[in-house]
Amino acid sequence: MKYLFGPVPSRRLGYSLGVDILPAKTCNMNCIYCELGPSKVTYYKAPFCPPSGEILSEIEEFCFLHRRHFDCLTFTASGEPTLHEELGVLLAESKKITGRPVTVLTNSSTVTSKQTRNILSMADIVLPSLDAVTPMTFRKINRPHPGLDIYAIIDGLSRLRREMAGKMWLEILLVRGINDGADELLALRDAVNRINPHKIQLNTVARPPAEDYAKPVGSKKMREILSFFGEKAEIVIDFEAQMGSGSGLILESEIMDTLRRRPLSFRDMEGLFGRYEKTQKILSHLIDKGMIEEKKLKGRTFYAALNNK
Ligand code: SF4
Repeated sequence: MKYLFGPVPSRRLGYSLGVDILPAKTCNMNCIYCELGPSKVTYYKAPFCPPSGEILSEIEEFCFLHRRHFDCLTFTASGEPTLHEELGVLLAESKKITGRPVTVLTNSSTVTSKQTRNILSMADIVLPSLDAVTPMTFRKINRPHPGLDIYAIIDGLSRLRREMAGKMWLEILLVRGINDGADELLALRDAVNRINPHKIQLNTVARPPAEDYAKPVGSKKMREILSFFGEKAEIVIDFEAQMGSGSGLILESEIMDTLRRRPLSFRDMEGLFGRYEKTQKILSHLIDKGMIEEKKLKGRTFYAALNNK
């Protein structure tokens, strides 16, 4: 499959069929924690958008030929999905095809535009992120395209929340020593109160980041921050703990399709693709062929596709 991956056991959405609608790292930010690695360039507009017809045909094929269970369809990108010029068509048509809730992950950068807010309002759940509220921290953690203004983004998020009928689950990704200080957290909480999302999801670095200095916030501090944000907040639980033992045929190509989008630990893959021995055998084979590599984070091993494989 060219555009679909999973269904992936998402930390937030159950079994989510991912739709990756843009070529690798088409993004207007270059976050230090990005699991896709650092960006060579940040885009204000996507230089190329795959045709919506091609993407929709693949969704149709998955639903009517493969018939595997999924809880929702999640529009994401190896970058920022709202940069796709036909996102509105994709959301409207895929809802008709699947009959499942449609969610969109966004870095919030384009909610400054009324047109983007109208498109996002078509989704059942929008998961925008907000990691900083001051220009200095915004530059440090998200390293945005120079055309992006954090104050306008916060204003756009407040407007989107008022305009949309679906749910907004706002994610804050905390990086040790970057946006977990008392002043930044106070300012973040003020901004979040203004935006008024349905949920506040606190996350930290859980997969190998673009920059080695992007370190996770410890669990004790995460719990303190959780109570600081109040009752709407939750810590996003690592999905390994939520998974059962998956089933289904293991195909090398399925594993590669998924690893090209995000690094996964062994347990992630076991849950996704099946039993221990089989998954391990395929991983060893892919490592031997030089198609994937092992990376360590906090003593855990993750597997990631090597570039261009
Ligand atoms: S984490 Fe998301 S928003 Fe940040 S650089 Fe990576 S793809 Fe872009």
